[in-house]
Amino acid sequence: MQNTSGVVLVLSGPSGAGKSSLIKEVSADIGDFYFSISTTTRPMREGEIEGVHYHFVSEEEFKKEIENDNFLEYAVVHGNYYGTSLKPVRDALHQGKLVIFDIDVQGNTAVKNRLGDITTSVFITTPSLSELKKRLKSRATDSQEIIDKRMKMAVREVQRISEYDYLIINDKLDEAAKRLKLIVQFAKLKISSENINEFVQKWEVT
Ligand code: 5GP
Repeated sequence: MQNTSGVVLVLSGPSGAGKSSLIKEVSADIGDFYFSISTTTRPMREGEIEGVHYHFVSEEEFKKEIENDNFLEYAVVHGNYYGTSLKPVRDALHQGKLVIFDIDVQGNTAVKNRLGDITTSVFITTPSLSELKKRLKSRATDSQEIIDKRMKMAVREVQRISEYDYLIINDKLDEAAKRLKLIVQFAKLKISSENINEFVQKWEVT
């Protein structure tokens, strides 16, 4: 992606760690941003809205998008496909916006490989596995089987925290929000290597 002036913030962490609540909590205080709405083949949960939480598609539609090279990255998570559409992200970056992704550890690796110099990554988790279990149960949107799957996945994901720039332990929402706001300020100070080259060229002749 050439000559972009925007930056990327990747948020990962187990389902139930409170990523969505945290984004909501900080959204009024971090300036203009574009939240990337992923495409998924997972069934819609109660209360979710098409085009707001996800674009919900069939597996066939998803595979067509893969063939057409429409994804910045995609992965299979908990047995369902999830992907980040390239075009809206590219547009937002060209407009100089902060682009926020809520993606898993596989997605973080892919984004780092493609947009590493403008990307800041944050892993968000509960203080413990038992707290995660409590939160998943109280959400009451998923069956026991799905909760068990998500817990197993969480144990695997936590092993990869060291791949992230920052860790936020979401114990108290207001404390976690304070940290995230600070991280956003630093994330916005990142500049792409294209912009650095441009600056150096200008600096030498002016
Ligand atoms: P959920 O089904 O709870 O909404 O999300 C399950 C997991 O999929 C979460 O860890 C979330 O971060 C991840 N996820 C959501 N969208 C994407 C995406 O576009 N790409 C990748 N790699 N992971 C995603």
